[in-house]
Formats: sequence, C-alpha cells, structure tokens
Amino acid sequence: EDLPECEKRIELDRDAPILGEKLEDQAFLRERLMALHPWRKGPLVLGGARIDTEWRSDWKWNRLEPFLNLEDHRVLDIGCGNGYFGLRMLGAGARLVVGVDPTLVFVMQWLAMQKFGPGLDNYVLPLGIEDLHADTGCFDSVFSMGVLYHRRNPVEHLAQLKKLTKPGGQVVLETLVLEGDGRDILEPPGRYARMRNVHAIPTVGVLQEWLEQAGLPGGQVLDVSKTTLDEQRSTAWMTFESLAKCLDSEDQSKTVEGHPAPVRAAMLIKTP
Ligand code: SAH
Repeated sequence: EDLPECEKRIELDRDAPILGEKLEDQAFLRERLMALHPWRKGPLVLGGARIDTEWRSDWKWNRLEPFLNLEDHRVLDIGCGNGYFGLRMLGAGARLVVGVDPTLVFVMQWLAMQKFGPGLDNYVLPLGIEDLHADTGCFDSVFSMGVLYHRRNPVEHLAQLKKLTKPGGQVVLETLVLEGDGRDILEPPGRYARMRNVHAIPTVGVLQEWLEQAGLPGGQVLDVSKTTLDEQRSTAWMTFESLAKCLDSEDQSKTVEGHPAPVRAAMLIKTP
C-alpha cells in the first residue's frame, strides 16, 4: 500500500523484466522497495528502478531456456521465490505459472510487482510443497530449483514432483551436486556454505538413482555449473552476506566449513 501508483507496462522477454513505466521520484520508489529487502532473485526493473538482486537468476534461466518448450504450458514452480522465473516462463510462452513459496517476504515482493505489472498469469502463493494436493497431476511442467537439498527426504520430494505433473509432461530439477561420477552423497553434519537445513548433496549419478526410485527415469542433464561470485553476491538490494563470505577466503574451491564449493546441476525429466 505504501508503494507509489505507477502506470502499467509489461516487458517480460528480457534478462531484467520491466514492470511499470518509469516513475519520476526514483529516490522515494527505491526507499519503498527497500522496505522489502532482501531482494534475492532477479534482476528486475520496477517503475524504472533497476533491482540488482543477490542472484543473477537470468544466468540460470539462460542456461535452461534453450532446452525448454513451455508454449501454452500450465507451470508449477516449487520454491519460486518472488516469481522472477514465472515472469521469464510467461515470456517464453507459458499460459499460466503457479508458484509456491512459504517465505512471506518473497510473496510480498511478488505482491509489490502487481502495482507495476498487474494482471499477469504468474502467481506466488504462500505455501510449501507439503501444502499441495499431491495428486493434482494437472501441470504440463513442474519446476523445483534450489529446493531438493533443503528436503529431508529427497526421493519423496521427487515422487511428489512426479505426482504433480501430468503424464507426458516435464519436470525441471535444479539442485546442488557433487562433482565426479562416483556414488557419493555429502550429508553436512552442520552448515553448508553457512546455510542451515542442507540435508544431502549427491553426485549426478546418485541423483539419477533417486529419480529412478521416484519413478522418473531417463532424466537428461542440461547443465552443470559452478556458482561463481559474479552470479551470487551482495548488492545494494541485498546487503546481507552472500557467497563470498561462505567460501574459504584462501581456497575458493571450498566452503568455510571445508566442503566442496557449490556446483549446481539442472535436469529435464519427461513424465511417463
Ligand atoms: N527457485 C528459486 C529459489 C531457490 S531458493 C531459484 O532457483 O533461484 C529456495 C526457495 O525454496 C526459497 O525461496 C524458500 O523459501 C523455498 N522453500 C523452502 N521450503 C520450501 C517448501 N517446503 N516448499 C516450497 N518452497 C520452499
């Protein structure tokens, strides 16, 4: 309610989606938007303010987008944050994006976006995956990015993704992995890169096994990338500590706890 009124403008098919015409009083706008700090996923341009988020989420999107066909899809995005990827999905032809995320400040950021670019079929609901009816089975595409390692039972999470996807649909999974083709699983006893609740980080081979156990065989590895200090960093819009403070200052191949530094894999799995 404290945000300034803004004329509607919507341009989605760009690295930093534009919502809202440029407002005159940029200082006031920035101050109001900073009330919703920390801005983690973006970049975004809201009312002419360029929000330089902690993550270059556009880089993740650009690694995946060439492999995805979302034309006319109904999409479910589990752990969608503020809905940034939903905007990109609509830009890529999706008909509807339902995102769920239990962290309320991200839901509030999505609500704020409605002031600038209202009426889009991109929603962020304040729910966790456990709140969804598992047998919905109506989504053409289900995304789970950056969520699996936070789940206590990863195979159960993957089985839920399958149930939420309609037969002949697709699951897009992105998660932390260990490099190498062994059968290792890192189960950090304490924190991982200062994150709490990181339960298990598997090799891609183990991830494939988990997918098979969940009834999702034949996954295609789209990408494996190290998370760089350019992709995840503190900015004016996310002033808390970021990846740089989570890596060993003398050896950036390790986290501060001595674990391998973050590497993420993205997979595409067609549902039977
Ligand atoms: N998908 C985004 C965000 C990843 S961060 C990306 O890839 O960049 C992980 C997100 O999962 C956070 O926003 C967190 O609030 C959300 N999350 C945590 N527990 C969840 C749950 N049980 N169900 C759905 N989302 C959850």
